[in-house]
Amino acid sequence: MQKKGRTFIPSVSYEELYRQGIKKTLRQTFTALNRAFYNGRLPRPSFCIGTLKESADAYAGTYYNGFLKQFELTFTPLFLEHLQEQGAKRLYETMLHEMSHIACVCQKVNRLSLTGYGLDGVEAHGQDFKDMCERHGLRAEWCNDAEQWAHTELKDPEHPVFGEIGRIYEQNVLSLKKG
Ligand SMILES: [Zn+2]
Repeated sequence: MQKKGRTFIPSVSYEELYRQGIKKTLRQTFTALNRAFYNGRLPRPSFCIGTLKESADAYAGTYYNGFLKQFELTFTPLFLEHLQEQGAKRLYETMLHEMSHIACVCQKVNRLSLTGYGLDGVEAHGQDFKDMCERHGLRAEWCNDAEQWAHTELKDPEHPVFGEIGRIYEQNVLSLKKG
């Protein structure tokens, strides 16, 4: 029996709780978007949190392991750190962007080597990628600097699925205030 007045010491740290909340959010966001925009047909990737603290950039990257035939979606620590401030919309855009990469590789439309991993590059954001985005909830814009269709935005931010995942995001990310 617990004694009165005893201090409750959580068994997991805030950092760990936050990481778990984020991983859960990423998994559930992928599942909901997959159902809404791809009829649930994309293979589920594993979600990774990048370890390079030095990569002072907030981004996500899709990797394909041709040997294991598995996708890996990596988010930099900075992206995740800023998740609370950036808002859910940024998460949906980023997730759908990476899902378009996965779909392109699945359909082998990108002429990328299936044994390769890094999908970022000129070919990765080519015409096929643009078409894939526009069929699945995004609008792709041409970036003059990079000469690619690399910039993507939600085509319909009012789509009902975003209300559904907004709750997941609130429960798992926003509710965890940084201590
Ligand atoms: Zn990309």
